[in-house]
Amino acid sequence: MISADTVHRQRAFFETGATGALDFRRAQLQKFSAALERHEASLLAALQADLHKSPCQGYTTELGLVQAELRHALKNLRRWTAITRRATPWFVAPARGWTQSEPFGVALVLGPWNYPVQLLLTPLVSALAAGNCAVLKPSELAPRTAEAITAMVAETFAPELISVVNGGADAATALLNERFDKIFFTGSTRVGRVVMAAAANHLTPVTLELGGKCPAIVCADAAIEQAARRIAWGKFMNAGQTCVAPDFVLVERGVRAAFVAALKKSLREFYAEDPSRSPDYGRIVNARHFDRLVNYLRDGKIIHGGEHDANDLFLAPTILTDVSPESPVMQEEIFGPILPVLEYDRLDDALALLLCGRPVPLALYVFTNDRATEAKVLAEARSGGVCVNDVVAHMIGTGLPFGGLGESGLGAYHGRAGFEAFSHQRAVLRRATWLDTPFRYPPQTLSLAGLKRALNFLLRG
Ligand code: NAD
Repeated sequence: MISADTVHRQRAFFETGATGALDFRRAQLQKFSAALERHEASLLAALQADLHKSPCQGYTTELGLVQAELRHALKNLRRWTAITRRATPWFVAPARGWTQSEPFGVALVLGPWNYPVQLLLTPLVSALAAGNCAVLKPSELAPRTAEAITAMVAETFAPELISVVNGGADAATALLNERFDKIFFTGSTRVGRVVMAAAANHLTPVTLELGGKCPAIVCADAAIEQAARRIAWGKFMNAGQTCVAPDFVLVERGVRAAFVAALKKSLREFYAEDPSRSPDYGRIVNARHFDRLVNYLRDGKIIHGGEHDANDLFLAPTILTDVSPESPVMQEEIFGPILPVLEYDRLDDALALLLCGRPVPLALYVFTNDRATEAKVLAEARSGGVCVNDVVAHMIGTGLPFGGLGESGLGAYHGRAGFEAFSHQRAVLRRATWLDTPFRYPPQTLSLAGLKRALNFLLRG
């Protein structure tokens, strides 16, 4: 079977030790960056064909972020791979302790369709920086992009270092039957469970970047116009098909009218009167998701948008009000351009709605200028990441680790966190030979009380 062969060839190559050398890693990252530049036009065209992403969007939300990750890895590789000194107890003195980052071996990276370049290739930067081989499985739902990535990878990397396996759930299942040394999955919580169960068979470590319903809370003291503009940007980019898009908004009752008016104004400014003609507005990935989303339109009152066209997979940016927290649109991850706006009177009511049995979201957004309100939200509502007075921004760039918690994911990446996600922290202790304290060797001459005192002294921090 192809996937078994691929993995065996990669493991044999990994075992030569070639991928661990710093110069090798650096050369691969440089080749990667040049390839991304060479294949820029075909990747951007593929994103346009699969998701109606304009070249500007394709670059700023996909290729540009991978290039930034590459630059950051190249700049920091030496520091990341340096050993870190650790304390050792007196018990073993004289000795030195340290940790060194070592590659896991052969990694599997499974990607989703919504940002099919960024979410497959950013983990690849980390995998290579950490010295691994990798098999990539792009999403079958963005087929043109999968094809363009396959061509780029085949032209750039030796298959025993990086290969691409294409296909849907069957191909992924076949891959998951193989033994990998690390699995990095981005996708739905449902499939995340399948991946983790398969990884358990081989005790393979996993990073899971999953979904969820990211709430946005807008307090009365917030900069309302700006909050609306930022929320509209984060929600409707890529037609709402963004894992960190604000899923729904909880707005304080007194500013609800102003917030909704500002939201509508932003949408008109962004996409004009007819968003179906805007080059900056995306399409729904396929008919199944289109039908799922159109069904949600019944769950509230449409106060903006709602127009849709199945032939073009177009669904206008839509604002829903009068939505029950029990309705499907408030129970399932929307992952599309529909924004329910609910009102609250007291912050405690808003927090209660978030806490009543809902899984921990990937991101939480709060718009307030009051530090006490910010602190209360941070203390009482959990999430993978948080933005105060913005959305999505916390996952852009290499400084902050990006990941979920509970049903929204396990582990994190970006920048150093990505390097660590693909590395084993190996602990090493080197003991001197010129001294060998005798008391640990049998026969034991100290009493138990004496031993306790000696051990507490020698193992003190
Ligand atoms: P998905 O889970 O359907 O698919 C993801 C990958 O898993 C694809 O490569 C697919 O081929 C594969 N797959 C599908 N069924 C499988 C199975 N039974 N066994 C093994 N592999 C299987 O997700 P999707 O629809 O591509 O993406 C949307 C979801 O991903 C949303 O829930 C979204 O929130 C989430 N997401 C999360 C992040 C993040 O960074 N946390 C980013 C983007 C998307």
